[in-house]
Amino acid sequence: MDKIFEWGHSRRYNDYPTYIKNKFGGRVQKISVNVGFSCPNRDGTKGTGGCIYCDNITFKPGYCEPGKTVTDQLNRGVDFFSKKYPDMKFMAYFQSYTNTYAPVENLKKLYYEAISVPNIVSLVIGTRPDCISKELLEMLAEINRNIPVTIEFGLESTNDKTLKEINRCHTWNDSLNAIKMCADVGIDTCGHIILGLPGESDSDMLTHAKIISELPLTSIKLHQLQIIKNTKLANIFASNPNYVKLFSLDDYLVFIIRFLELLNPKIIIERFVSVSPIEKLIAPKWNRMKNFEIVAKIEKALINNDTWQGKYFQSKT
Ligand code: SF4
Repeated sequence: MDKIFEWGHSRRYNDYPTYIKNKFGGRVQKISVNVGFSCPNRDGTKGTGGCIYCDNITFKPGYCEPGKTVTDQLNRGVDFFSKKYPDMKFMAYFQSYTNTYAPVENLKKLYYEAISVPNIVSLVIGTRPDCISKELLEMLAEINRNIPVTIEFGLESTNDKTLKEINRCHTWNDSLNAIKMCADVGIDTCGHIILGLPGESDSDMLTHAKIISELPLTSIKLHQLQIIKNTKLANIFASNPNYVKLFSLDDYLVFIIRFLELLNPKIIIERFVSVSPIEKLIAPKWNRMKNFEIVAKIEKALINNDTWQGKYFQSKT
């Protein structure tokens, strides 16, 4: 008989689809909303150049679908998926750029508009760790009493030297404070981590797993570093290919297993890889493998090695 892990099933990591199914009683699809937020690391408030891997062409402050309100954007997505899956429920996903970077009163209007769309059962807000406040969290905690709210933070690294190198213009302490402030008001958090950032060794990256494991973080999204066209990183890479050591697919699979083994089993894994459109991607190309194919390889490797998330996790508390 298959081993049942502490997250209640035999899959060897605490996976997001199962968590969502248990939480909402069925499938829930994220629908992206873009209302044209900017970013303080672009407009001069924190920095002007942006993070070195941020795509300058895609980054269009003020962009949103012309004439499309939050309601229009969500309804379009809901209609599309409901035709195929009539029982499906939806999350309003404020995804692009820094979705808390506006006065709280303006944000409140946008978020309340989103949750009033029929069949929206959850609100997910992507932002930077240095762009939240007590006032904002009080407003979100109020929404969270009615429908679940998750804040997604771009953490990227737990190492301040790396954060400086990639020009994030925030510190790890900002990330720690943001996650703790959300936990204090009962709001779920997701953290993005990029694996393979300049200057980070395997040991540095495994330290991220240990540090993150001690935080009240609900879920994580892991990404391998990719070189995307029209970024500062692409320019640096063109003149100095040794600036970063990009993962081969095989090395990434081995590394992810080691990362998972150290990770707190309570943390839900939303994503293991990011696969950018081939027309934008410079490297690594990994034979154009799709996200689900890579996840299947990770699952197979976990079984073959008879290992699982948290196998070597040791809580310090
Ligand atoms: S915080 Fe996000 S949107 Fe802003 S520069 Fe960095 S990657 Fe781009």
